[in-house]
Amino acid sequence: MLRTDFIHQLEHICSEIENKPVRLRAYEKIYGGDINETYRLAMTDKDYFIKINAREKLPMFEVEAKSLQILSASDSFRIPEVYEVGEFEEKSYLLMEFIPSLIEGSHPENFAQSLAKMHQNTYEKYGLYFDNFIGSLPQYNKEKTDWIDFYIENRLQYQLNLAQQQGIIPAEIIHQFDKLYNFLSGFLITEKPSLLHGDLWNGNYFYDTTGKAVVFDPAIYYGNREVDLAMMSLFGGFEHEIYRQYDEIFPLETGWKERLKIYQLYPLLVHLNLFGVSYLPAIKQVLDDFV
Ligand code: ADP
Repeated sequence: MLRTDFIHQLEHICSEIENKPVRLRAYEKIYGGDINETYRLAMTDKDYFIKINAREKLPMFEVEAKSLQILSASDSFRIPEVYEVGEFEEKSYLLMEFIPSLIEGSHPENFAQSLAKMHQNTYEKYGLYFDNFIGSLPQYNKEKTDWIDFYIENRLQYQLNLAQQQGIIPAEIIHQFDKLYNFLSGFLITEKPSLLHGDLWNGNYFYDTTGKAVVFDPAIYYGNREVDLAMMSLFGGFEHEIYRQYDEIFPLETGWKERLKIYQLYPLLVHLNLFGVSYLPAIKQVLDDFV
């Protein structure tokens, strides 16, 4: 339930955006995310999407808004327009454009083209000029010039340290990670740093009613583009045709499928930290395949 005084604040903001007085006609809760309370707000002539959380989560929304704007400037996927990050009493919120989704059918060609275009946005270093979040965990983006160093230190080791602090990772696995780090320099490849969505699982995209692929809820940084493909294939929900067309538009280096397993270790460690030891066997399996 949204409080009446909060509704008034939102009506005021939307009236300023549209430059005319608007009223909230109706609202409904949207399910699907796992962090925030989310709603569709039906104002007089236009719908909005709002995410609400506790006041101390304001920095998370600020970072999300900045990230969506960077993705939007990459001229690739359709990205919801961000209107406002704000606070109301003990809550913080992120107000954005509501994008209606396609009910049936899919457009793998549009997804593949958009993904390739996003990845063709490059930068001179790996990382990003601000830190962000992966789920509700911190994602440390301090820039580096070496991709493999970046992936080991800022991604794998950072999450491994969190797992160690929580006491949920056996010493044997820590030892295997150490061995893996030595192996990676001869196994991973280095390409130009690509703009990544960073959390591209199937709950973070849909097609709009014109068939354009929409992505949201990002954990962006510049890194190796195989990272996004690894996340996509970890939990599924992306058609084979997407990978095929992507590879045609922006060819991947030989051996990419094998390397995806290494890049899946990062989201698996994140899941271990967020949801517990049921993710240990999947982590162990990847490690056993390589070291
Ligand atoms: P959370 O931050 O809690 O993970 P999400 O960003 O995943 O929330 O959003 C929750 C759900 O709302 C998504 O699964 C998606 O279906 C829908 N959604 C997200 N952004 C929009 C939007 N701008 N317009 C319409 N629906 C959206």
